[in-house]
Amino acid sequence: MSRPIQAIIDYSALVHNLTIVRQYAPKARILAVLKANAYGHGLLHTANALKNVDGFALLELEAAITLRTIGYQQPILLLEGFFSTKEIALVEQYQLSPVIHHAEQVSMLSDFKNHKIDIFIKVNTGMNRLGLSPKQLPQVIKELTNNQHVKNITLMTHFASADDPSEKASVLRQLRCFETITETYNYPCSLANSAAIINYPETHSDWVRPGIMLYGASPFPDKTAADLNLLPVMTLSSKIIAIHDLEAGDKVGYHGLFKADDRMRIGIVACGYADGYPRHAPTGTPVLVNNQRSRLLGRISMDMLAIDLTGVKNTKLGDPVVLWGKGIPVEEIAMYAGTSSYQLLCGLSARVDRKFL
Ligand code: PLP
Repeated sequence: MSRPIQAIIDYSALVHNLTIVRQYAPKARILAVLKANAYGHGLLHTANALKNVDGFALLELEAAITLRTIGYQQPILLLEGFFSTKEIALVEQYQLSPVIHHAEQVSMLSDFKNHKIDIFIKVNTGMNRLGLSPKQLPQVIKELTNNQHVKNITLMTHFASADDPSEKASVLRQLRCFETITETYNYPCSLANSAAIINYPETHSDWVRPGIMLYGASPFPDKTAADLNLLPVMTLSSKIIAIHDLEAGDKVGYHGLFKADDRMRIGIVACGYADGYPRHAPTGTPVLVNNQRSRLLGRISMDMLAIDLTGVKNTKLGDPVVLWGKGIPVEEIAMYAGTSSYQLLCGLSARVDRKFL
């Protein structure tokens, strides 16, 4: 049985969003962040649309090897990187660039056989997730510059709150910390994620690392993707698979969370939380039926959800319903469901067919 739900991935929107990154950061080289299956969009298609970027950043070793094997020559950064001996051999063989974020990782380079690789050294400037402390950095740099397996070094950090307009002081504090620590070295640097690319040009430096903006979603709560001239890349759509006419007092779905006040018509759509639609999206979350805005009703099931068809013109079985994407920004659904666009995009389940346009 084939289900009518699909995620349409728009190649030209990816290309467009990349041009927007370039407009914001015209002097920086771009590391396109393709982790988590390119934020749910499909690794290979996304890499192909972004093939002219200067490098890729991922987390998954296998995905990085795939990109290298099919011929991408640019740097491929492995963002996390605690590797087993077997994995280290692959990092070397496929010329991947690990992020050194912990002093103990330096010794792993001694397992290399012949090759030299480029490495990124991550500095913890206040996020306290990954990164060497400012105190540890000089010793690690000393060891790495003396290491025969290291070709080029890039220094990097990551911002905790560049997407929060009220946290400007924290971004500038991290920036100052990074500049103070790194000014004695003459290595290229990388700091900016999407939010910093857009809001903090002073962080662009040598390499920027856009993720969410490439996929056409806004990183900010107070600015839409359209405000930023970004185009949504993924449109999640499905179809109406049942229609019911309700009387006043009738209830809908598990635990009857929605109760009709009046006579009304509802549609059942083939999309549920097992597809990645957020189970916590409440009644009132917008959907697009036949290009008309309507709303979700009651609790999301594993495979289905209910929508209001009252007042929506000319609806019938099989009509298309857009859950997010073109016409309904994924950020809007995320806001209703109390989550983020990142989580919705990355959480699209494997059982949803991606159709690449
Ligand atoms: N750089 C690092 C280290 C990241 O972990 C991420 C994403 O989480 C990014 C860049 C891209 O961030 P964004 O998707 O907000 O642009």
